[in-house]
Amino acid sequence: MRYLQYHLFGKGIVPKTSSVPLVTGSAIHRGIEHLMNRLRIGQEEDIDTAVGLAVEEYVKNVSDAGFSGKMMVDDRQKAFTFSEQKALAEALIRAWHLVESPDIKKRYKVLSVEREIEPIHLTNGVRLQAKVDAELQEITTNEYHNYSIKSVKAWYEKVEDSYRSDLQGLTEAWAVEQDSLLADEATNNIICELQRLRNAQSFPDKNLTQIENYLTKASRGPKKISAVRFCILIKGKVIMNNFTELYTTNNPLIRGFKYVGPDSIQYAHSWQYPKPENKSGMGTLGKGWEGFNVWEQFAIKDWVNYLFSGQCQPECDNPVYAHVLRPAEMFRNDDEIEEAISEIKFQEEYINRALFNLSNLNVPNGDILAHTFPKRRQVCNFHKGEVCSYKPICWENKLSEWEELYQIRIPHHEAERENGKQN
Ligand code: SF4
Repeated sequence: MRYLQYHLFGKGIVPKTSSVPLVTGSAIHRGIEHLMNRLRIGQEEDIDTAVGLAVEEYVKNVSDAGFSGKMMVDDRQKAFTFSEQKALAEALIRAWHLVESPDIKKRYKVLSVEREIEPIHLTNGVRLQAKVDAELQEITTNEYHNYSIKSVKAWYEKVEDSYRSDLQGLTEAWAVEQDSLLADEATNNIICELQRLRNAQSFPDKNLTQIENYLTKASRGPKKISAVRFCILIKGKVIMNNFTELYTTNNPLIRGFKYVGPDSIQYAHSWQYPKPENKSGMGTLGKGWEGFNVWEQFAIKDWVNYLFSGQCQPECDNPVYAHVLRPAEMFRNDDEIEEAISEIKFQEEYINRALFNLSNLNVPNGDILAHTFPKRRQVCNFHKGEVCSYKPICWENKLSEWEELYQIRIPHHEAERENGKQN
């Protein structure tokens, strides 16, 4: 997969269609990026604009590519999923704004959002590119934290453990620190040069001092990232709704229940609710209640605000808080960072050599591929819950017809896009 996705034909190839979790995840990131940027410049967040930008990104991604995945069985399903995921992205951005944003505002200074860090030299011919969701500084301690937003189907112990050993958190912390070292070095070099000019009396001393003061003030010195703060947005599990016969995401922020009485309509977000008088401690909504898709009957904004107010089933946990999780920060561990970077250096050096050999040496390519990029058969049929999208190439010999299903990958990082070559 690494070879096909990142190196084949120089840039790698990716499926033409987008996977549902990917487009929803990008839309959520786009909305939150806007809100974080407003916090960075000290302006009031504009939630409606953030949602607008997210929806725009979502619609563009889906209309450019369409959906893929084993559940996208027909046009009816695709049309339903399109509306559902659009609503879900909006609901989660609004939930983030209500739950997480006030905390960020209170506790942190937002230093940058989705900043492209200049590629950092890793090892011979290999540079590391990184873009952190946001770089934060804690107001009370002045400590630096990286911020990472993830959207997952559900949150349970195993998922939590996987974040505790998250590689991205380690490499991003390393990249930010290396970048700040380089920036600090550059500032010191300029200050030395200013001193040389001062000694040579080539410029008025007053001007040189002004520049020096500005640089000293702007320079933050080498950074040390103390922790990674995660924010986990819960999208909900996808289940087959036997009534509509559609795969449906189970999330109370976009799926509710209603009871139409003679004079009024009652609403609920959870089928089960605490009922101490029952032996199990739980009760169910029961007869007369029916599920509905929120986006078909409400503005998502109104429903999420209604849930957040706690007026709907106050006896239950508030579902808005339950879908924006903020686990304890993952504090820095120098040994882990060092170990991860050392592993990556060896691995990437090995891959880099293999790529060089593939294009330059007269060795059968099959041998190099088998040696460096062996098939990972254990995930061909189950990669992140889906059949691997490269199966037609690996198992059906479709490489010669690749353009039907795939396109050349557009690099995520600016430096790689600009270079027009693999870094
Ligand atoms: S089909 Fe299997 S071997 Fe091929 S890229 Fe996917 S996981 Fe790897």
